[in-house]
Amino acid sequence: MRFDLIVVGAGLCGATVAERAARQLGMSVLVVERRRHIAGNAYDEYDEHGLLIHRYGPHIFHTNSERVFHYLSQFTSWRIYQHRVRAMVDGQLVPLPVNLDTIAALYHVSVDEPRLQSLIQQDIMAVPRVENSRDVVMSRMGARVYEKIFKNYTKKQWGLNPEDLAPSVCGRIAIRMNRDDRYFTDRYQGIPSQGYTKMVERMLSHPNIHILLGTDFRELRGSIDYDTLVWTGPVDEYYDFRFGKLPYRSLSFQLAYHDSEFVQPVATINWPNEYDFTRVTEMKHLTGQFHSKTVLMYEFPQSDGDPYYPVPCDESQRLYLQYQTLARKEERVHFLGRLGTYQYYNMDQVVAQALHFVDTVLGR
Ligand SMILES: Cc1cc2nc3c(=O)[nH]c(=O)nc-3n(C[C@H](O)[C@H](O)[C@H](O)COP(=O)(O)OP(=O)(O)OC[C@H]3O[C@@H](n4cnc5c(N)ncnc54)[C@H](O)[C@@H]3O)c2cc1C
Repeated sequence: MRFDLIVVGAGLCGATVAERAARQLGMSVLVVERRRHIAGNAYDEYDEHGLLIHRYGPHIFHTNSERVFHYLSQFTSWRIYQHRVRAMVDGQLVPLPVNLDTIAALYHVSVDEPRLQSLIQQDIMAVPRVENSRDVVMSRMGARVYEKIFKNYTKKQWGLNPEDLAPSVCGRIAIRMNRDDRYFTDRYQGIPSQGYTKMVERMLSHPNIHILLGTDFRELRGSIDYDTLVWTGPVDEYYDFRFGKLPYRSLSFQLAYHDSEFVQPVATINWPNEYDFTRVTEMKHLTGQFHSKTVLMYEFPQSDGDPYYPVPCDESQRLYLQYQTLARKEERVHFLGRLGTYQYYNMDQVVAQALHFVDTVLGR
């Protein structure tokens, strides 16, 4: 058997490369996926109660890229949805990202209080060189926000103290000196009207694309001929963990069903300080589904399990660089996506990366 292109992984990255290669460049494509479904971590499906569930955690699409949004819009219409998150702190729900209402609640003052902004300024610590995640929060938001919202959540999520994590981990979350309580402020935000799996199904539906599910590519090595291979699986796995395993943080999910329409006021509630779970998401807020039951998804961070979050610290970066050096020498093999490049990417970023790859490498 021979294909112009083999794509390992049927997530959003692999699906974008496969779709463009087949439809735009007329290539014959084989997509190999070791799970028994397409759509990677964005996979959603109806459960036994008829509720639509994001199986690998809640996924909200958001982007400022017009190109990515219009590209995906060929395969789906969108439910207009803007994500809202609260944190449970000392028994009250406060908005995240931190905004003026969060500050008012944490300092026990009214949001109209003229001293509101100066309260937080007093708490902010001057950090000459921001070297880790604690420094980022202390220098931008002060000690009270750090202690109440970031410190324990970060420990639970990563199994590491904020002092041992790169600034980028907590640096992704900005403070807002206004009352905007949307989690994302991107120009385009939403959820595919019929779900992510349906969207990816349409992307991959082309006579030039063949899909092999439930198959680890390593089982096929040497048995199929190809010109180009795109690997969206873990880069260390491709090299049989030659330099050691790249560390990942994983999650386990627990579902709880309730016989009522809704139980949470917003989609996601973070629990920074109590319990072992980090956050609880009520899927129906995302999906917009009408149903007499509702389901909550609890996320428990763990070190073993599916590779979800690359661990952003110096040691893992050093290890990744060793694999990257090997990867750069490959002529026919290209590493893309969240696992292939050992980077925390959102969905829009992997689609952008895949489109750029097709423009600059495949279509050249
Ligand atoms: C809990 C959680 C919540 C998230 N929420 C959001 C969100 O709200 N918004 C957002 O934009 N992004 C979110 N993301 C990120 C999003 O999941 C990723 O950006 C996206 O899934 C990356 O797509 P990908 O194709 O690179 O990787 P994946 O979706 O991981 O796909 C890679 C695929 O490769 C397959 N594979 C690996 N190795 C092999 C092999 N040897 N042989 C065959 N197949 C193989 C895997 O089974 C997998 O299906 C979230 C991620 C997590 C973990």
